[in-house]
Amino acid sequence: MNTRLTDRQRAERGLTRVYDFDVRATPICGRPGWFAVTSKRDRNRLYLTSRCQCSCPAGQSGDSHCCHRSLVRALTGDLIEKTFDEMEVAA
Ligand SMILES: [Zn+2]
Repeated sequence: MNTRLTDRQRAERGLTRVYDFDVRATPICGRPGWFAVTSKRDRNRLYLTSRCQCSCPAGQSGDSHCCHRSLVRALTGDLIEKTFDEMEVAA
């Protein structure tokens, strides 16, 4: 059995953590595509996050699907675009 998750499954799992931990994102004025995103455990800690980068420990260690990036990808429409792509492939 193949237990390896696809990129989309990993992104969706990250988004689940966003809801579980009530992670929030605020756009950064003057830096399009960048958000200040709250830590899962400490509301007073913020990470700088874009669709491609995150300053959280997981993001700095190479995890491309931390919950902060999943939230930013959802907010910027990246996950929705991928859903439409997958629908066309499945049709
Ligand atoms: Zn992160």
